[in-house]
Amino acid sequence: MSARKKMADLPSRAALRQEQFLTILSREEALARFEAALFPRAVAVEHRRPGEALGLALAENVVVPVDVPPFDRANVDGFAVRSADIEEASEGNAVQLELNAETIACGVEPALPVRAGTATAIATGGPVPRGADAIVMVEHSEPLGSGAVEIRRSAFPGQFVSHAGSDMARGETVLRAGTVIGSREIGMLAACGVNSVAVATRPRVAVLSTGDELVQPGAPLGPAAIYDTNGAIVTAAVLENGGDAAFLGHVPDDEAKLERAMRDALAGHDMLILSGGTSKGAGDVTHRIVSQLGSPGIIAHGVALKPGKPLCLAVCDGKPVVILPGFPTSAMFTFHDLIVPVLRRLAGLPPRPDTAVEAHLPLRIASELGRTEFVMVSLVAGGDGLVAYPTGKGSGAITSFAQADGFIRIEALADHLPAGSAVEVRLFSREVRVPDLVVIGSNCLGLDRILEPLARDGFSARVISVGSLGGLAAARRGECDLAPIHLLDEKTGRYNAPFLAPGLELVPGWRRLQGIVHRAGDARFEGLEARAAVLAGLADPDCLMVNRNQGSGTRILIDSLLGAARPDGYFNQPRSHSAVAAAVAGRRADWGVTIEPVARAAGLGFIPLADEHFDFALVTSRKDRPAVSAFLAALSSDECRKALEEAGFRPA
Ligand code: AMP
Ligand code: MG
Repeated sequence: MSARKKMADLPSRAALRQEQFLTILSREEALARFEAALFPRAVAVEHRRPGEALGLALAENVVVPVDVPPFDRANVDGFAVRSADIEEASEGNAVQLELNAETIACGVEPALPVRAGTATAIATGGPVPRGADAIVMVEHSEPLGSGAVEIRRSAFPGQFVSHAGSDMARGETVLRAGTVIGSREIGMLAACGVNSVAVATRPRVAVLSTGDELVQPGAPLGPAAIYDTNGAIVTAAVLENGGDAAFLGHVPDDEAKLERAMRDALAGHDMLILSGGTSKGAGDVTHRIVSQLGSPGIIAHGVALKPGKPLCLAVCDGKPVVILPGFPTSAMFTFHDLIVPVLRRLAGLPPRPDTAVEAHLPLRIASELGRTEFVMVSLVAGGDGLVAYPTGKGSGAITSFAQADGFIRIEALADHLPAGSAVEVRLFSREVRVPDLVVIGSNCLGLDRILEPLARDGFSARVISVGSLGGLAAARRGECDLAPIHLLDEKTGRYNAPFLAPGLELVPGWRRLQGIVHRAGDARFEGLEARAAVLAGLADPDCLMVNRNQGSGTRILIDSLLGAARPDGYFNQPRSHSAVAAAVAGRRADWGVTIEPVARAAGLGFIPLADEHFDFALVTSRKDRPAVSAFLAALSSDECRKALEEAGFRPA
């Protein structure tokens, strides 16, 4: 089937699966319809004192009512002179001037003119008297005591004088509508005496989370509950984009309660943003409520975006109502991509500047046909230009958003981007912040202990977890400074060193005990040594294992333990030591392989298996970089060795 055909099929197929996605719109179409339903509209304007307008957008241009400075002003302490009188003055040829009988301090209006052959003492900030056209610094003069002064340097006309209106001239437009008021703008307004400005009133935005599973931060988590992430993040992002956000908490998935909460929120606010509850098919209620809140109602429900397909956009009696997808990353993407432009317009702010940089992909990225896909990436400096590593942990991962520098867009008609592709990265910030230290490879809790002192010394570090083998590949391509690895060479029985390519050197890290974890008291495993424990697991048909992802050092260990056996649970392959412990502790599995500190923290039984060497492949050519030296120093410092030991690792 051609890609085009697939696209055309999408709405009907989606409609079959989920009744509410009657029409799936493209991102552009959805945004255009949403904007057309909301604009043009007058921005609400209020007048405020500049100090109380911090962060607001000016609704009108500011025209300067007075000259700044208001008079010709001296910029140094010294003497106001006629430059023509001292044209010939030098160290060897002092010119004598008669002193006028006044001293001009700040705030003192001059009474006497500076006539030819005279000078007037003047302080920084004083008004330049009539007749004078330059100031000579006091350092280049010598008092003569008898009402005269000797000048030892010539001056050009206008020297050390700020002319009236040279900073801001009366009638000039100094600040334009749409400018966000910060401390610098407040300073300009004060300098020209303005104490009231017209600013756009912040739209009052109500934020609600939905879901029976949600708990607010600070409260204990029950079984199967999660913390409400969207509430906090949407509230902050609304504030960042000119809205006056009010977080109203979370509402359970109960139609009556939800409707009450939504009606109350709309009554007191100009806009409502919800998250969750749009992707559940038959159980979904929010869109039904939205369609009864006012006209024209739902503008778009279902947008061809990944992440973010279930987004719902509505306008209810002039007020925008948005239901963001539940997954935090999807919620943030759709918020930034489709809601921020509208919110900023409502707040009188200019569009957010988008900065993009060119980079290339270190690996292939698969993509779904028929949806514009956004992939968040971390940028590192490679051999030739920037390299964009996907931060992908799935659409539920909040860290993908927090740790990313920007995102790339994969067009709806592409099913993948090959490794090495040149991509455009749209940045979350105005400029690229390439970290001082880049660590790509296997991750270990011990690493945090080494990075701590670096952060204290102001080095920024980026850790990208791609497993030992991925780290070695990145190190060979020169994309990182260090690749943490823990790889056992079966032939030699040696760790790590046999895997180094030319240009890489081994820096010993620490030892950590890998072992089999089981729930304490599980009679199948208690008291056995590792190989016997695995056999015991294999012998019990009800026993479930949890594996690790391909490419991880732990997986190699597991595969060598299992040989050809593929027990139940083998295909459950999480990406971290912690996930293995959580699976066993939460009874999703009965045994797995993880490291001792993680097993102890989870309160699990632990059967030692291998004393693993967690070391670093250092890119020799990057050894002398300051952040790398700092890392190496930290690694061998007493402070870090002690911290590692306390965390359950044994420094090499
Ligand atoms: P839903 O659209 O309500 O089915 O939610 C989709 C996924 O997002 C589920 O895993 C929810 O638990 C999760 N989710 C929904 N709302 C939030 C929230 N406010 N914070 C964190 N996760 C959420
Ligand atoms: Mg939900």
